[in-house]
Amino acid sequence: MNQVALITGASRGIGRGIALELAKLGFDLGINFAGNAAAAQQTATDCIAQAKAAGWSIRAETLQADVGLGSDRDNLIGSMRANFGRLHLLVNNAGITSIGRADILEAKEENFDRLMAVNLKGPYFLTQLAARWMIDQAKANPTMRPKIVTISSISSYAVSTNRGDYCMAKAALGMMTKLYAARLADYGINVYEICPGVIASDMTAPVKEKYDKLIGEGLTPIKRWGTPEDVGKAVAAIAQDALPFSTGETINVDGGFQLRRL
Ligand code: NAP
Repeated sequence: MNQVALITGASRGIGRGIALELAKLGFDLGINFAGNAAAAQQTATDCIAQAKAAGWSIRAETLQADVGLGSDRDNLIGSMRANFGRLHLLVNNAGITSIGRADILEAKEENFDRLMAVNLKGPYFLTQLAARWMIDQAKANPTMRPKIVTISSISSYAVSTNRGDYCMAKAALGMMTKLYAARLADYGINVYEICPGVIASDMTAPVKEKYDKLIGEGLTPIKRWGTPEDVGKAVAAIAQDALPFSTGETINVDGGFQLRRL
């Protein structure tokens, strides 16, 4: 039987890139999306084709849920149970950028609340639901080593004063990773944070010119935009248990952005 992964926000961008890489490994996939059903269906179709080319037969189910809503998170995990009956990998990827990208002296409380619901409360409580299920599975089958990956950002430590809520949510995901890593280690469940740098997606499309210029000027030692595939490959390494003695770990997929240089 194939292993099973749930990827939030997998209809587009980085989540889609992660789904395609996991398809190549023969994972059955829960493709979560918020509103864009057509994009989610396209990802599912492309994943099945990608898997077939690699010699696998997989299932890819599209699952609508707003990770910022508790009832939707319950339904999402319920759908995974009903569709697949098992879960080897949760990837918390869904996220939104700072609404309005307002300066922190101007930013509105309602926008803060919505961002925190989607980018922080969502992954925190979805991980709780998935972890309880994974514990039951690991107890029943000690050779199963479920894993949890959360996509944070270089914004967890790099300041953008017009995206304060986004930066704070991403910083908190680092602590969330450490907390769950400590809590779940006894069950053989490893937990990881991936920090992508500047990645080409719909989220960064509106600021393309700004980052084209910065990358050209040497923002990153590796002078190119990152791709969803770059992040997908890092998740694939974790999915294959390439880091069995590492948990609570942060993996930078950022072209070397985090390096201090003189
Ligand atoms: P994107 O292109 O805007 O795609 C966002 C994805 O998340 C879509 O699949 C969208 O679904 C889904 N989504 C949005 N709100 C959701 C919600 N409330 N519930 C469930 N799904 C939701 O973004 P991206 O660039 O791929 O970013 C993905 C993750 O990587 C985010 O957490 C982001 O913060 C992080 N990240 C991005 C970059 C970057 O440079 N792009 C860098 C570092 C970290 P629909 O298609 O249905 O709208």
